[in-house]
Amino acid sequence: MSSACDMVLLGPPGAGKGAQARRLVAALDLVAIGTGDLLREAVAEGSSVGRSAEAHMRAGGLVPDALIVELVERRLAELEPDTGALFDGFPRTIAQAEALDACLVRLDRRVSHVVALDVGEDEIVARLSRGRFESDGSQLVARTDDRPEIVRERLRTYREQTAPLLGFYAERGLLLRLDGSGEPAALCDEIVAAIGVAGHAS
Ligand code: AMP
Repeated sequence: MSSACDMVLLGPPGAGKGAQARRLVAALDLVAIGTGDLLREAVAEGSSVGRSAEAHMRAGGLVPDALIVELVERRLAELEPDTGALFDGFPRTIAQAEALDACLVRLDRRVSHVVALDVGEDEIVARLSRGRFESDGSQLVARTDDRPEIVRERLRTYREQTAPLLGFYAERGLLLRLDGSGEPAALCDEIVAAIGVAGHAS
């Protein structure tokens, strides 16, 4: 069994998963596998994956599982056995989580940690409607799916299809839930410390 740390980062849209993923990748020396980023790249390239995904993304719904799983499997196959992965925005359905488990087993790996960022819906709508900023205060490129009605749809999608993953991973003893509304650097330290101390699921 590979000793790599394969971590899943869960949380509703606007919880700060992307920013936290960048910190964790640096702190824990992981490779980020962010399905939202991979899809936005595919859309920008105009690839067949991008063309299939675009309408789902614009509407705030999910891209079909088969397409996402194939995208992730390709990335995972490129990883060195000892390099850990940080999954950001994946899995988003129970079917994706089951496909991830199966894929990792084939590679002699497993999900070792799941971190869920909790942020209330009011805070999320406020954050996303203020726009996205980097830690230095510069504004990121506006996302077409940050419009209020699409944010509400993305939150509904999260509640219905992704939130059940909290139970899925809690049952497996892998879930670490943290308040995602605090300061990102402190949150990253908290995650690194919790993983180091608990060393859970190893
Ligand atoms: P994100 O940047 O993670 O919020 O993803 C942006 C959009 O890409 C989502 O609203 C979905 O339409 C799509 N997407 C990203 N990851 C997934 C996934 N794992 N499964 C299905 N759709 C996804």
